[in-house]
Amino acid sequence: MQKITFRGWSMIVINREKCSGVENCAGKGLCILICEKDAIIEDNGFPLVINDKCDNCRLCISNCPNGAISEVDTDVG
Ligand code: SF4
Ligand code: SF4
Repeated sequence: MQKITFRGWSMIVINREKCSGVENCAGKGLCILICEKDAIIEDNGFPLVINDKCDNCRLCISNCPNGAISEVDTDVG
């Protein structure tokens, strides 16, 4: 079956194996601090993305010192 991808439905995901946790982050949780939409919160010492608030500006992706954040398209169809 052919898959159709809508970029507007992409999600921001954080790889917990790459993320060192807020305490050990070189940017001290930079992703949380930098997000203008308050779309990343701290959850048990790790950042958690609230995708409903996210506008996919990608600031967190380009600034994470560990390259732990990426954008994943949601496949539909
Ligand atoms: S900026 Fe990167 S390493 Fe730091 S807390 Fe966020 S995801 Fe983890
Ligand atoms: S892409 Fe932008 S709005 Fe979405 S979580 Fe990252 S910094 Fe926040």
